[in-house]
Amino acid sequence: MLSTMQDVPLTVTRILHHGMTIHGTSQVITWTGGSEPQRRSFAEVGGRATQLAGALRDALGVTGDERVATLLWNNSEHVEAYFAIPAMGAVLHTLNLRLPPEQLVWIVNHAADRVVIVNGSLLPLLAPLLPHLPTVEHVVVAGPGDRTALDEAVAARTAAGVPVQVHAYEELIAGRPTAFDAFDWPELDERSAAAMCYTSGTTGDPKGVAFSHRSIYLHSMQVNMAESMGLTDQDTTLIVVPQFHVNAWGLPHATFMTGVSMLMPDRFLQPGPLAEMIERERPTHAAAVPTIWQGLLAEIADRPRDLTSMARVTIGGSACPPALMEAYDKLGVRLCQAWGMTETSPLGTMSHPPAGLTAEEAWPYRVTQGRFPAGVEARVAGPDGGFQPWDGESAGELEVRGPWVAGAYYGGAGDEPFRPADKFSEDGWLRTGDVGVISPDGYLTLTDRAKDVIKSGGEWISSVELENALMAHPDVAEAAVVAVPDERWGERPLATVVLREGASAGYAELKEFLAGKIAKWQVPERWSVVAAVPKTSVGKFDKKVIRKQYADGELDVTRL
Ligand code: ADP
Repeated sequence: MLSTMQDVPLTVTRILHHGMTIHGTSQVITWTGGSEPQRRSFAEVGGRATQLAGALRDALGVTGDERVATLLWNNSEHVEAYFAIPAMGAVLHTLNLRLPPEQLVWIVNHAADRVVIVNGSLLPLLAPLLPHLPTVEHVVVAGPGDRTALDEAVAARTAAGVPVQVHAYEELIAGRPTAFDAFDWPELDERSAAAMCYTSGTTGDPKGVAFSHRSIYLHSMQVNMAESMGLTDQDTTLIVVPQFHVNAWGLPHATFMTGVSMLMPDRFLQPGPLAEMIERERPTHAAAVPTIWQGLLAEIADRPRDLTSMARVTIGGSACPPALMEAYDKLGVRLCQAWGMTETSPLGTMSHPPAGLTAEEAWPYRVTQGRFPAGVEARVAGPDGGFQPWDGESAGELEVRGPWVAGAYYGGAGDEPFRPADKFSEDGWLRTGDVGVISPDGYLTLTDRAKDVIKSGGEWISSVELENALMAHPDVAEAAVVAVPDERWGERPLATVVLREGASAGYAELKEFLAGKIAKWQVPERWSVVAAVPKTSVGKFDKKVIRKQYADGELDVTRL
């Protein structure tokens, strides 16, 4: 029997319309570094998105599923692009502004971006790349910036017979109608691509994930559930996670559904301005990777500030050290860990403890990666080809599937989606590359990325466990552990440690400290104090770089 229900496509267009009408008074607040941030209501942002769609179609001739890229900080214009581009049927391609130039060139060419919307402050980054981006016909500049480099690049492109046109964002949209109905929004197939994002390439080449309207809609609903981020129009969320990092974890779409105001840091991502934003605008929620929270903690230690408005924080992207969670507990800020990937939109788990527990009983749950929402199914692939029981002990590679989980990557031969066997199982599940265990009540604990696990004499050592234990030492600001070749054991851990300012702990003391917390055979014998842990473009420990530094003899290593 067929259902009798209406079949209304789940599209970004509907989220846009809902946000700008039902939650028209909620705000996008963009930090300007000046005395007052810029404030625009959802009604205004929606109106400007409508103008942008009109401009892209009428002035720039964007049609069908052409790719429109953004090279923007988190700000109002970026939110406008988030809605205008998918809703008009084109594909939003968010570019990671921290990638090395050659990777950016590769990605723009791979996606065949036709338009790039760029912040003026990022022109020095984009301009030198333009001669290598033949598919880009239009550059739209938002906000102030020095145009010299851009003008030179445009002249070079013209001389080479591949012209590119430059437009100012405000001039381009000015005078166009803002009413939602003034634009002829196409009725879209909910399974068509709405946005794309390349993985940040921590462990390999970037791969393109194309999110559908349907996956974005369903993911947004999950983000809004109380068991996930659970925000309402009473909230303001500080979105530090970049809009180019998996759609800022889905927040801009989710907030338009429920009227959560967005506080956007633009390019002011240093701990000082972040602390000021929090104190002045008093967001109730925030989202960022652990590195940001580590930095803010050091800032607060130097110059105490009131963070208590921000009762809840979503932290993910890499493992949250329990010591960091404890430190924020003391400041009245509760960090809630989430796990996810570009391929999972990204929400895969969140670590809310089960009901009815004391704070002490809840703690072991809080430090896990969390439990799976209804839209994400999980299994753990064991070493022998079977699947592990959910007993909290049997480890293996995590595999997931669900309506907002990728089933392939964009752009194989002939533009067909492709499914590398190391990333997708034969029956279509995503192989996450993350190693861990699941407890009987469905909580995931990740021990490592498969590529970062240290294989020592046939046993596995979790680099994350060693890092967490080290970062609990009061003298340690950051610690990253990587596998290095060892004559006897195959691999052994190398601990690289960043000490807090003025701290004096020696290697012997740190070793002793670890020995009290983890199995003795896992304690590293190779140690190196470093000035900073190298980070990837999205602020994760870059272990590829550390391994290379070690191999090239660039680290001052003490063995004991
Ligand atoms: P990349 O793989 O290039 O870093 P992603 O941003 O998609 O790009 O990263 C996804 C990966 O980040 C996950 O597979 C996992 O290894 C790691 N990760 C994300 N959240 C967590 C978390 N809470 N704990 C541990 N690892 C995490």
